[in-house]
Amino acid sequence: MTTIALVRGDITRRRVDAVVNAANSSLLGGGGVDGAIHRRGGPAILEECRRLRASEYGRGLATGQAVATTAGNLDARWVVHTVGPVFDPSEDRSALLASCYRESLRVADELGARSVAFPAISTGIYGWPMDDGARIALETVRAADTAVEEVEFVLFDERAYEAFAARLG
Ligand code: ADP
Repeated sequence: MTTIALVRGDITRRRVDAVVNAANSSLLGGGGVDGAIHRRGGPAILEECRRLRASEYGRGLATGQAVATTAGNLDARWVVHTVGPVFDPSEDRSALLASCYRESLRVADELGARSVAFPAISTGIYGWPMDDGARIALETVRAADTAVEEVEFVLFDERAYEAFAARLG
């Protein structure tokens, strides 16, 4: 049984087993939540990302996939990096966004994580409409077959929090 909670705030402050990062395929950092995680988590995360790029992820991480690193100085054991799709009104990329949540939980299961914090993947720089992003996030996590006991969605602003709250019911 997985419980789902909504938290208003900064995901880099959460004390959980795994923090999910809305990364980009380079794995080498970016803006938004990615930048915040690397800033607070410190250089150990980027070092491990570089090692991944130098080994099995030579071409980067594909959209919809997930991979774990250390969480550095965060109050977490791991960061699970996943690459959300860029929103495109002329192409339905929902399956890729759902895959981010599912694959992140699969990686969390492999690690033995019991608690996982997610941001609202793709709803920032990648332009996904918040309400639809919330729908996909909640539906996918609810339907997931996972041993993770606690999932929290950490929503950065009131608009995101309200969108998730309206969908959580
Ligand atoms: P993407 O490129 O996947 O859209 P962003 O990081 O730009 O990723 O945004 C994803 C979501 O994360 C947005 O809703 C944004 O407001 C939110 N966000 C940005 N910084 C943080 C943070 N420190 N904690 C939680 N959520 C954040």
